[in-house]
Amino acid sequence: MNYEDFFKAELDTLRSDGRYRIFADLERKAGQFPLATHRSGHREKGITVWCSNDYLGMGQHPSVLKAMHEAIDLCGAGSGGTRNISGTNHFHVELERELADLHGKESALLFTSGYVSNWAALGTLGALLPNGVIVSDAGNHASMIEGIRHSRAERHIFKHNDMADLERVLKSIEPGRPILIAFESVYSMDGDIGPIKEICDLADRYGAMTYLDEVHAVGMYGPRGGGIAEREGLMDRVTVIEGTLGKAYGVVGGYIAASAALCDFVRSFASGFIFTTALPPAIAAAAAASIRHLKTSHDERTGQRDRVQRLRLKLDAAGVPYLRNDSHIVPVMVGDAKKCKWISDLLMEHYGIYIQPINYPTVPRGTERLRITPTPLHSDADIDHLVGALSELWSRCAVNRAVA
Ligand SMILES: *Cc1c(COP(=O)(O)O)cnc(C)c1O
Repeated sequence: MNYEDFFKAELDTLRSDGRYRIFADLERKAGQFPLATHRSGHREKGITVWCSNDYLGMGQHPSVLKAMHEAIDLCGAGSGGTRNISGTNHFHVELERELADLHGKESALLFTSGYVSNWAALGTLGALLPNGVIVSDAGNHASMIEGIRHSRAERHIFKHNDMADLERVLKSIEPGRPILIAFESVYSMDGDIGPIKEICDLADRYGAMTYLDEVHAVGMYGPRGGGIAEREGLMDRVTVIEGTLGKAYGVVGGYIAASAALCDFVRSFASGFIFTTALPPAIAAAAAASIRHLKTSHDERTGQRDRVQRLRLKLDAAGVPYLRNDSHIVPVMVGDAKKCKWISDLLMEHYGIYIQPINYPTVPRGTERLRITPTPLHSDADIDHLVGALSELWSRCAVNRAVA
């Protein structure tokens, strides 16, 4: 086999499908978020980022940066080992306490990313629960799907957010078998929200555990940023809450929060937790500072909500169609992979606006979109400029407008 030819041919298929991913080469500017420099060939251009998951701008918050600088000066760069062999730093221990407290759980366990936390926790629970079954929402994130697949547990998928279908699946499982229901609160692409209470009610009725991915909700919802389950008073009903430190908290890392025994079980049996170098102490210190800040400060969340509302009003006025939802994510629908990429390129080229096109397989074909994430640091002028640009491109690229 000619290996190089094989790789190139596969990439050509992606390109002709409009699915080839091009990463924008950015230099974020601390103190000036959401501004960044974009480099392409020999050209450098100042742009405004409109698609960051640093939803609240915490990645540049003074208390986060201060904690990070201080921890570097105190402990150096890396952690120096796996958690088991010399890599557990006091900052990791404090961060895990902070996370357990955030979710009102006995314990929390830190991973190198949210992806790894889902993959390792679901993989371990699914593999080791004797004769266990995992029941998974059809809209779940790739990291959950991979973890479930890796566990080799029997797996059933229920229709997205469909309680009748979930009950149908639960009914079909032989009574007495251990069951874990895996789902999310805020789904990142449509921005819709899972019915946590209803899922917990069904879990109680069928003796199942619940596993909730709150990655897009932690820091963003609830009086202390504990997520949708906190906002709805449901944290104690969910068995495992999983989150990230890389989105609203603005740093990097993932975690689960649950009972002491469950966290200790995953800590003791999950290969993806044990056999990898612990996060740098400065990362743990920065994440803890971010969590602490958002436990008491509401300004970021309030500002973020205000920006979302303003953007939606302006989009409505311009007739640019977006998915309506109850979250902070504004998916502007294009419905065509090539047009979506084209509009994104023109926004960058002519308007200094960066919004990554979201195409298949991240979303179903025909629902290609620009996923816009306003932050408290986007100004009125930024919003006006964005909506003006979208409106011009909607005419130029002949994309359907919303019907008033
Ligand atoms: C981003 C994401 C993850 C992974 O979190 P990282 O910290 O980025 O690895 C997990 N679940 C969902 C739903 C996500 O969108």
